[in-house]
Amino acid sequence: MRKQVVAIVGRPNVGKSTLFNVLAGEKISIVKDTPGVTRDRIYADATWLDKSFTLIDTGGIEPESNDVILSQMRDQAQIAIDTADVIIFITDVKQGLVDSDSKVCDMLRKSKKPIVLAVNKVDNFQKDILDMYEFYNLGIGDPHPISAASRLGIGDLLDVVCEYFPESDGEEEDDETPKIAIVGKPNVGKSSLVNKLLGENRVIVSDIAGTTRDAIDTLVTHDEKEYIFIDTAGLRRKSKIKEEIERFSIIRAVSAVERADIVVIVIDATEGVTEQDAKIAGIAHDRGKGIVICVNKWDAIEKNDKTIYEHTRDIRDVLSFMPYAEIIFISAKTGQRINKLFDVIDMVIETQSMRVGTGVLNEIMSEAVALQQPPTDKGKRLKLFYITQVAIKPPTFVIFVNDKQLMHFSYTRYIENKIRDTFGFKGTPLKFIIRERK
Ligand code: GDP
Ligand code: GDP
Repeated sequence: MRKQVVAIVGRPNVGKSTLFNVLAGEKISIVKDTPGVTRDRIYADATWLDKSFTLIDTGGIEPESNDVILSQMRDQAQIAIDTADVIIFITDVKQGLVDSDSKVCDMLRKSKKPIVLAVNKVDNFQKDILDMYEFYNLGIGDPHPISAASRLGIGDLLDVVCEYFPESDGEEEDDETPKIAIVGKPNVGKSSLVNKLLGENRVIVSDIAGTTRDAIDTLVTHDEKEYIFIDTAGLRRKSKIKEEIERFSIIRAVSAVERADIVVIVIDATEGVTEQDAKIAGIAHDRGKGIVICVNKWDAIEKNDKTIYEHTRDIRDVLSFMPYAEIIFISAKTGQRINKLFDVIDMVIETQSMRVGTGVLNEIMSEAVALQQPPTDKGKRLKLFYITQVAIKPPTFVIFVNDKQLMHFSYTRYIENKIRDTFGFKGTPLKFIIRERK
């Protein structure tokens, strides 16, 4: 089952970030070599009992004045409605019920999304609880008292949130059609690309059952194979604040990426690869998705025999955390190499699901170890006992070692490269889990 997306919505200062940090805990995903993505806490992995989900904080930008608070909250609520499976609407018991709370609540209620009402700053469950009852007036069900700062009521809140998650043995599993998210900064050509994909291929429906979003999932048939394209371009948010536009585009990307098997990252050839591209790409990498990098508007730039080489080098440089990604140069306008895009997607679908036998893996690992001795620390040498593949999408390997502390990132990377030398695994990240065996 795909990971559920939970968004936190509320006025400034009600405690969104505090709650976000409590829920994300230590789990805020930190992949050392993924730049940008982890600097701002827009999204994080969270778990509660046996459930794991992706948490999104829709806030984060301080409105400059009171009169923009409401419009900004509406934007945030809309983003949550567009992207989340469950919305936590958070209010503040100390400030009480405020007009903008009610207005935003109307909007949330109309969306028919599951909404969980949290009343924060109930620091004293005996004393403050009476003030909580006015929040029934919002008409979205029971208010759940919490104190984010003192971590009170959090478990009960999460129980309610998780009740809205589908049972994991749902029908979703049966759907084998590959899902491909098209992501990228505004104006790189995402909509044009989607239109091109649709235009040249038979479109069957544009509304896949089971998705709660606006009709942005499109089923496309190409060479008698089916693909579902998840288009983030349609979900545009207008805003004057640059950081806000950027934040929204990241939130959109997170939720699209979460639902996808493969992510097509669109880059604008006329602009070259940027930090913002790296942030968006980092999300897909972090999430272990298959990756295709599409350099679009290839028709619009002057080219000589070095151009492809230069673009490739710049992309490898800025996106150095995903050397495995395939890069193709396309034009959504002229249709150049659109067929190639399908070929690359097919290849990535295959590599993401590839399984390698334990025997071969252990041969590769022993050879690698023989070629380059594992590191030592304080006189103790790392020993690698055994490797086995435990999952696909992304291919995931467990390596048993004598001491986890000794298994440096760079040595894991070395083993990864040896596996890639033999099997390629083009277009997919590989995941390594290091376990100790005494
Ligand atoms: P945001 O703007 O909605 O993200 O709110 P913050 O998380 O930044 O919190 C705003 C203020 O409320 C900060 O000063 C927090 O320390 C405070 N705060 C957050 N949670 C609680 C709580 O449970 N009780 C009390 N008394 N204060 C809290
Ligand atoms: P989105 O915001 O990423 O969905 O980008 P759009 O699809 O709306 O495209 C933004 C602009 O780039 C539009 O003016 C498009 O006509 C233009 N554009 C998109 N793809 C191409 C392309 O392959 N070549 C050229 N020359 N222009 C393109």
